[in-house]
Amino acid sequence: MALRSAQVTVAAQDGQALRAPDPVASAPLAVRGVTVSYGEKPAVFSVDATFPAGAMTAIIGPNGAGKSTLLKAALGVIPRLSGEVSVFGQPIETARARIAYVPQRASVDWDFPASVIDVVLMGLYRRIGLLGRLTGAQRAKANACLARVGMSDFADRQIGQLSGGQQQRVFLARALAQDADLYLLDEPFAGVDAATERAIIDVLKSLKADGKAVVCVHHDLATVATYFDHVFLINVRKIAEGPVATTFTGANLNATYGGRLAATHIDQLALADPA
Ligand code: ADP
Ligand code: MG
Repeated sequence: MALRSAQVTVAAQDGQALRAPDPVASAPLAVRGVTVSYGEKPAVFSVDATFPAGAMTAIIGPNGAGKSTLLKAALGVIPRLSGEVSVFGQPIETARARIAYVPQRASVDWDFPASVIDVVLMGLYRRIGLLGRLTGAQRAKANACLARVGMSDFADRQIGQLSGGQQQRVFLARALAQDADLYLLDEPFAGVDAATERAIIDVLKSLKADGKAVVCVHHDLATVATYFDHVFLINVRKIAEGPVATTFTGANLNATYGGRLAATHIDQLALADPA
């Protein structure tokens, strides 16, 4: 299935036709009909999703809903059974350099012997090449990224010796070093302290203010309405997507969690009015 062409024609006020970007085909990330299966049952089934620029989108769904799988399929690190992924209108293979990815913390081997600054410098290897020589400017850039997440004092520490929140900040610094246009983060706030949560959200908001697209798998329903502009609800299949104001509703949450959320909990969330 082909994505629509990158341009659509809209009528301008003076009657002349203007070429405006198609919000789907030029989106930072668009997936169409994506199915991923590890075994017989698909983990993600026939999902369409469009993630906009200059916005923060939360991917929400219960454990095992396919949230991490959807991100990995979008990155092209696991094979798709079917479907298409487009990144700024390009196939993933040619657009990979524009994406930064922060994996789910639990999936990382923290015994790997690397210092904090080494991990941040990994964000620059796509430009340097594994055998290339680091320049002073590149080191300065890595240090500036560490400063942005408040981790300058830990540059020479082994990554395995940090707290969970500190590790998460370092992985965000590595993503910042990549100068990407699309940021995919898998549960960046899971198991971090309040100060780290604040530091991470401040960085993500500054990326959004710079027009970048930020997509987070997010587990904390209580902060969706304050942190995010868009939501994508998934339980193997797409349940709903759109602005928080119209999409983060009790009905959509019930459909996503299959009645596993207590009604009292749903009542406490800052939900949109029923559409
Ligand atoms: P989520 O991130 O929403 O919790 P995942 O995308 O990690 O869900 O997993 C979706 C489903 O796929 C789950 O049933 C999970 O057990 C299964 N799964 C995930 N990764 C693998 C894998 N590498 N091999 C086999 N099954 C997997
Ligand atoms: Mg996951």
